[in-house]
Amino acid sequence: MAVSTVYKEPAPLVDRENPLESMMSRFNVAAEILGLDDETYNVLKAPDKQIIVNIPVTMDNGQRRVFEGYRVVHNTILGPSKGGIRYDMHVHLDEVKALAAWMTWKCAVVDIPYGGAKGGIICDPTTMSPGEIERLTRGYTLAMKDVFGPDRDIPAPDMGTGPREMAWLMDEFSKTTGMTSPAVVTGKPLVLGGSLGRVEATGRGVMVSAIAAMKKLGMDPKQSSVAVQGFGNVGSWAAKLLSEKGLKVKGVSDISGAYWNENGINIDEAIAYKNAHNGRLDGFTGAVKMDADELLISPVDVLVPAAVEDVITEHNANDIKAKLIVEGANGPTAASADPIIRDKKIMVVPDILANSGGVTVSYFEWVQNRLGYKWSENMVIERAERIMTDAFEKVYATAEKYNVTMRIAAYVVAIDKVAQTYKYRGGF
Ligand code: GLU
Repeated sequence: MAVSTVYKEPAPLVDRENPLESMMSRFNVAAEILGLDDETYNVLKAPDKQIIVNIPVTMDNGQRRVFEGYRVVHNTILGPSKGGIRYDMHVHLDEVKALAAWMTWKCAVVDIPYGGAKGGIICDPTTMSPGEIERLTRGYTLAMKDVFGPDRDIPAPDMGTGPREMAWLMDEFSKTTGMTSPAVVTGKPLVLGGSLGRVEATGRGVMVSAIAAMKKLGMDPKQSSVAVQGFGNVGSWAAKLLSEKGLKVKGVSDISGAYWNENGINIDEAIAYKNAHNGRLDGFTGAVKMDADELLISPVDVLVPAAVEDVITEHNANDIKAKLIVEGANGPTAASADPIIRDKKIMVVPDILANSGGVTVSYFEWVQNRLGYKWSENMVIERAERIMTDAFEKVYATAEKYNVTMRIAAYVVAIDKVAQTYKYRGGF
């Protein structure tokens, strides 16, 4: 047996603001507005638990590699913790902690009975075979078998993971309990208890909140243009559904670069191209290639960052032309950009509201699994849309009440909900 090597290159945070600090600075503003007492503040500011595991995986060449994996449970006051698992070389404990807290606030904003968690493994799934990814996923699940559970902590897909990984996770967990436990994880393939409408749910929620925001701003979707950064699950579905609402999608981007078409990109063609070319837009002829950084400051009415954290910063915020930003990604705006965007009077539908459609339909999947029943796609779409619209209106009204941005208002709504529940429950 070959000697184990630890496969770990912690993400450089040099160019990026620390997402945990970005999250905390907004949390602090909202806590101040709410006059949160010290006890509740201290309970909510730090995660309940942080688990770090080493996962030995036999690679296809017979060598054994050890991967580092995390699961952070931020809070369970509202219910079992919920949140995705990320496979990426940039996974970092502080990032997972921030993402776990955002899940707590996200679930509270849309008023679903979950706390927040997040997981991640430092790995590059694009260079691994399906067999290696399966063994890694099963190893991670085994290592987390006492953390996960349908009433305890319920994972889901995030960057680098999807229905395939959720199926392996569900199967491995079921082996440890001796019972088929579909409700331990969401985002599963349909045949395994996945929900209709889950795959496109986050992108659909982005579209719903964009349309709600445009209404408030008096913008006509049919006269408006949009640029979408990121063409993965969230970005491609958001682009498709926004174009169906009449918006002209002038720009999209992915890891291979940005693509621009003044007359609007045909999104169905772009998606078909991506599916046929290893998930990438490289070589797509329906648009002109341009510098990836240009996309965020391009002349469009609506901007949808749907890729990674910290892409809108104090360095480019001033050059943004859009009147509306709808955050499909988690944490795409660094805290340092907040005052610049506020002064430019750009409305931001923040991540914990704009991308909450994903976890909302995850909740529906969990409910269906527990009932042993399947909802129609229409029922999923209608109910998710109602939840998102109600949450949007609540956040909008809170922003007006306290004269704050939509982002701070979303934190106020979320923290208030968790704090009030904590008052009734006491510590758990
Ligand atoms: N990873 C997604 C998110 O960040 C979905 C989480 C879930 O469905 O639990 O919201």
